[in-house]
Amino acid sequence: MEILGLNIDFAAGKALVTVYLIQFTLFTVLAFVARRGDAIRWSPDFLKSVRVNWSFIAFNGLLAPVAFLAVKALNNGFEASGIPTVPPEFWAVAPAIVPAIVAVIVADFVDYWSHRIRHTSVLWPMHAVHHSDTQMHYLSWYRAHIIELVVIQGGYLVLATWMGASPGAVAGVVIFRAFHQQYCHMKVDWSHGPFGLFLASPRFHRWHHADHPEAWNKNFSNIMPLWDRLFGTYYCPGKCDAPLGFAGNPGENFLQLLIYPFKEWGRMIGNAVRKTAA
Ligand SMILES: [Zn+2]
Ligand SMILES: [Zn+2]
Repeated sequence: MEILGLNIDFAAGKALVTVYLIQFTLFTVLAFVARRGDAIRWSPDFLKSVRVNWSFIAFNGLLAPVAFLAVKALNNGFEASGIPTVPPEFWAVAPAIVPAIVAVIVADFVDYWSHRIRHTSVLWPMHAVHHSDTQMHYLSWYRAHIIELVVIQGGYLVLATWMGASPGAVAGVVIFRAFHQQYCHMKVDWSHGPFGLFLASPRFHRWHHADHPEAWNKNFSNIMPLWDRLFGTYYCPGKCDAPLGFAGNPGENFLQLLIYPFKEWGRMIGNAVRKTAA
């Protein structure tokens, strides 16, 4: 099928649906194993959170075909523009596992700083939407504002395409990251002992979501908490029983969450204008 002059097949779409089904089955089973009866006793607040997270899954899912189109368009764009890109031979100098590990480490380092920057005042309203879930369970990972997805994931797509990463390698990293991040959002107090610096755990990420002064602006790492240790933002004193969310949280309302960043940015601009005029 051809859209905007680009040849589209549905294999990627089918693979995506398959990955969705596998992950939802896996995490539902894991939740039952970890929390037994609690996994099916949903409080009204938990039910509201699940509904909002499913709204984000459905709404943001509209971006998936756009992402496939963007990769093809970017490839064509780099070719047509003559902008130098990383040649495929670069990736062939060592066994495939070596560039794969290097790519994951580099991407995780970029993720740390990109996440840390999203916690600064101007970008926070966009990222705050992810932090609005006070129930936090594996579906909470999907709670992200579409602007944040476009800016951040769009940036990664440009970088991956420029690096000449194969579609298989990109899919591998994306799928690993999706599974690991959903695992980190699970409603369980699992930590990884001595391996905790190399693979983030649900306990580590729960502290990142905690509305607790000592935990604010801590634990930015996605995969390797080692970055937080190196850059002085590590905080994981034990089980996290602190409340989740943040002051000014718009609550479990999908539409309110969608407009939240625009309202906040409007408020910031208004304050800046009033200050200048005063
Ligand atoms: Zn965050
Ligand atoms: Zn999170």
